[in-house]
Amino acid sequence: MNDMDKHFKIAVIGSGTMGNGIAHVFAQSGFNTLLVDIDEAQLKKALSTIENNLKRQINKGIISESNKQNILNNISINTDIKLCRDMDLVIEAVPEKYDLKVSIFKNLDAICKESTILASNTSSISISNLGNQTNRPKNIIGMHFMNPVPIMKLVEVIKTIHTSKATIDTVVDLAEKIKKIPVECNDYPGFVSNRILMPMINEAIFCLEQNVAKKEAIDDIMKLGMAHPMGPLELADFIGLDVCLDIMEVLWVGFNDSKYRPCTLLKKMVSSGLLGRKSGRGFYTYD
Ligand code: NAD
Repeated sequence: MNDMDKHFKIAVIGSGTMGNGIAHVFAQSGFNTLLVDIDEAQLKKALSTIENNLKRQINKGIISESNKQNILNNISINTDIKLCRDMDLVIEAVPEKYDLKVSIFKNLDAICKESTILASNTSSISISNLGNQTNRPKNIIGMHFMNPVPIMKLVEVIKTIHTSKATIDTVVDLAEKIKKIPVECNDYPGFVSNRILMPMINEAIFCLEQNVAKKEAIDDIMKLGMAHPMGPLELADFIGLDVCLDIMEVLWVGFNDSKYRPCTLLKKMVSSGLLGRKSGRGFYTYD
């Protein structure tokens, strides 16, 4: 990290699964990182999650005990989004709700200095639509981190028609500085990652619905035959079936193409509260 980076200020909005991971990786690379959430208890929980994940990294020999405190010192928490006013980069990681993300982007656009880059970690919402609600579309970009953030290498960098080269260069450079691998793509429904992943998961659910094979067999065939680390149904449970359904609907509406229609079994499971790991039951049952 050079002297300029030491003064580069980063904020993350939303301290849930993704937000605390994003703050963790920036702080680990020496960046001053502000974590903002509307929920004070969630912020405290995020800090303790980061601390536990740092302990895991110490056990694996990735960082030392003395690093741990320095990393935690790089993170501050607050419920006041106005503290983002002089940030250089703000990464939004609030729930996948279009109206909520639009309101956060409009708010940040009004609060932040002109040069602030506003990025979204959305899984599927159009970055162009978010950018077009602001007066700074050239400073708007997608930074799609993968879960769990401290472990997964990819940052899918999503450009709109208006995103400037300076914004792309800054974000690519930062992603490399936090030891991730940025890969660029254009703003299109589902980008690349979820446009390919979600239809595969949806098709696995069709296979189950049509009794082509048992759930374990569907997962085994993809693990053993395609060298996937998790089967598609296990993975759907891990991601959350509600999230999978939301993304399929974005693809279906976005492309206007019936090949993206969500499987009825997926819809039925979501409406019955079977959301995967987080609800204790999805395709599999969890303690
Ligand atoms: P989450 O529900 O775990 O966390 C969201 C956080 O946002 C919560 O702490 C909540 O209190 C906070 N929040 C809600 N409204 C807010 C507001 N107005 N201001 C500030 N904070 C607010 O969600 P997540 O799983 O971390 O997902 C966040 C984003 O990342 C979503 O867009 C999701 O699609 C995307 N994403 C998720 C994953 C994943 O595997 N979970 C992977 C890639 C991308």
